[in-house]
Amino acid sequence: MSLLCRAVLSLRYIRVPMARNASTAFLIEDPKYSFLKDLGLKENNVGVFNGKWKANGEVIKSYSPANGKVIAEVQAGSAADYEACASAAQEAWHAWAELPAPARGEVVRQIGDALRENLQPLGKLVSLEMGKILPEAIGEVIEYIHVCDLALGLSRTLPGTVFPSERPGHVLIEKWNPLGVVGIITAFNFPVAVFGWNSAIAMVCGDATVWKPSETTPLVAVAVTKIVESVLQKNNIPGAIASLCVGGKGIGEKLVKDERMKLVSFTGSTTVGQQVGVEVQKRFGRHLLELGGNNAIIVNEDANLELFLSAALFACAGTAGQRCTTTRRLLIHKKLYSEVVSRLKKAYAGVVSRIGDPLLEETLIGPLHTPAAVDAYKKTVAEAVKLGGKIEFGGKIIEREGYFVEPTIITGLPHDSPIVKTECFAPIVYCIEIPDLETGIQYNNEVEQGLSSSLFTENLGDVFKWIGPHGSDCGIVNVNIPTNGAEVGGAFGGEKATGGGRECGSDSWKNYMRRATVTINYSGAIKLAQNIKFGDQ
Ligand code: NAD
Repeated sequence: MSLLCRAVLSLRYIRVPMARNASTAFLIEDPKYSFLKDLGLKENNVGVFNGKWKANGEVIKSYSPANGKVIAEVQAGSAADYEACASAAQEAWHAWAELPAPARGEVVRQIGDALRENLQPLGKLVSLEMGKILPEAIGEVIEYIHVCDLALGLSRTLPGTVFPSERPGHVLIEKWNPLGVVGIITAFNFPVAVFGWNSAIAMVCGDATVWKPSETTPLVAVAVTKIVESVLQKNNIPGAIASLCVGGKGIGEKLVKDERMKLVSFTGSTTVGQQVGVEVQKRFGRHLLELGGNNAIIVNEDANLELFLSAALFACAGTAGQRCTTTRRLLIHKKLYSEVVSRLKKAYAGVVSRIGDPLLEETLIGPLHTPAAVDAYKKTVAEAVKLGGKIEFGGKIIEREGYFVEPTIITGLPHDSPIVKTECFAPIVYCIEIPDLETGIQYNNEVEQGLSSSLFTENLGDVFKWIGPHGSDCGIVNVNIPTNGAEVGGAFGGEKATGGGRECGSDSWKNYMRRATVTINYSGAIKLAQNIKFGDQ
């Protein structure tokens, strides 16, 4: 049977997804998921840590998106619990900031080692609770380990510059100090890595942190915090420097308004991020915003199609479209348009049989994270059709337990259709024809988001046009690779409605420190800059 026939057959069994499973048996009791207990998780877990584990808030059930069943429960933080976290972190910060940076780096190195020891169980938990396939989930833990390595190096190289002073007997230096306590709010789709990007760098910079994870991935947050706690304990460092407060919007709002949070690092949707940015600005706090994307790949006239096609599936449908860097728009040169669409459809047909349980080896595409995400997918597809779009592939919800949808290709919509310009966090890609590269760049840049972008070309001149002042206006500008899958060495983030923040590599550490320009006069005489004479001086 051809791949296409198999795909068509499997697409017949389609209807609205199941509601969340009401069964009372928790998956943690199933021996199949024994790795959960290896991480120290139980049926009922405490979701607040500030040196001690104690929570008084509501009890949250954590569901597996692959089957809608409850994995285990986590008791979230109350307002008072958040207060206890913030004040304990503030208190513990003083001693942490006094430790020499290389000593802080050594602690982060040990966290990297503890993550290495827990790589498999933690990766499996990410897969079970978030829904991404196991290799990607393991990759996410590896990303945190890589950031620990990067932060360790940074702990011995954090710079401070000496500038030449124009005044004799004066020294002009730049001194970097820790900020204090940093609030970290994270999204569901990278429940380990985004915390790691922030935490490892903040720790070597001498900051304490309070983490509010996504309320739909609380088990990952508890497991990661237990790993960090074990290292802090071994080193006699107060656990409160890595505090955790599981909760929803209410806890997030408290953290954002809290003056003790010198920096709020927020990862999530543009809508929420904008509110967070305004609130933090109101109190003149610092914010680092990592928000939504609407990423495009331009397939240039001279693109290597084999290369493009081997990247396209992961780019558009990988992680079931739930990466901030997922490709949502394909801007294809008119000479290649029909061929690209038809070959892409074949490639999609080839993965239909590999949609399923993200923990299984053969699976390439897992579920969406929640029933709400399935609903958003359904509404977006319906709206696209209403606006005149043609479903070239997929477009339906898959009938099976869990929250599965078909990866979807849509053609026929104008490049500036409102729906094309909106991020739907699901595996939907719009194919749009372009007459030339200039138009492709214009379309790439016309959306409000500015996260990731990629150009497939063999033309060196076009590469430089693409990365130059009139090229892509995104924070991530790739050539001949997909829009997703970044390394930790570079600064990660995007422009415009993606928020402008940069995390992880390059000089992103500067976000986590405050800069003082220091002038020291050892001449014994007062001299003003610009040789200004004041009075009889
Ligand atoms: P979301 O905005 O719904 O939630 C993100 C976090 O904000 C959660 O922890 C949530 O509890 C919290 N929150 C909600 N309301 C809040 C409020 N009023 N004040 C403070 N905190 C509040 O996002 P999501 O659905 O978890 O994640 C998907 C989104 O995140 C997508 O838009 C995706 O593009 C984006 N994202 C961006 C990046 C990046 O690096 N640019 C990375 C991952 C995800």
